[in-house]
Amino acid sequence: MRPQAVLFDCDGVLADSEMLVNAIVAEQLTALGWPMQAAEARETFLGLALPDMVPRIEARVGSLPPGWAQEIAMLLAIEMTRRTPAIPGAVEAVHRIVAAGVPVAVASNSGRAELMAKMRGLGLATVFGDRIFSFEDVDRPKPWPDIYLAAAASCDAAPQDCVVVEDSVPGVRAGMAAGCRVLGFAHETPRGVLAAHGATPFLAMDELDALLGI
Ligand SMILES: [Mg+2]
Repeated sequence: MRPQAVLFDCDGVLADSEMLVNAIVAEQLTALGWPMQAAEARETFLGLALPDMVPRIEARVGSLPPGWAQEIAMLLAIEMTRRTPAIPGAVEAVHRIVAAGVPVAVASNSGRAELMAKMRGLGLATVFGDRIFSFEDVDRPKPWPDIYLAAAASCDAAPQDCVVVEDSVPGVRAGMAAGCRVLGFAHETPRGVLAAHGATPFLAMDELDALLGI
């Protein structure tokens, strides 16, 4: 069934940035007295926006220095400007969907500066245009549905006519809560876990065309 719009998560779906981001987060937390490797940062924070990470971090290390969140957001944006690795086949899949005449949007729990850096790094900033949504553009980050509702509205589509492409549990929950059909890219999270939260799992970006009916 062909959707009215396809709403993409960014990290782990378009940008293969999770390990890079997790390495930076792990480094910062280790410096604060919570020794951590990138893999543990991934397990602890996958799919969470910075505001939802802060209380978890403070529960462990105590109050964060003033401006810590802003500083790490800036660090991540700088790193993504330098280099944004793409998920294999993801950029090509977006181009095929657009060529098929289906509107696309991005909805991400990243900060706006970091997200825009990734879009430019992937060469997708002009493809998505003004349909790029950061957690800073809505009241509540994923797993709340706000960001997917905003993305669907930007495509003039009802949420139930949209397909969300996600890779994390908070992201799948956000897409389901918005009333969208959710495809779960089983890259960082096992397919069974994504399916348990309501997503249809898939393993490679070249499967998207068939799943979307384009
Ligand atoms: Mg993700």
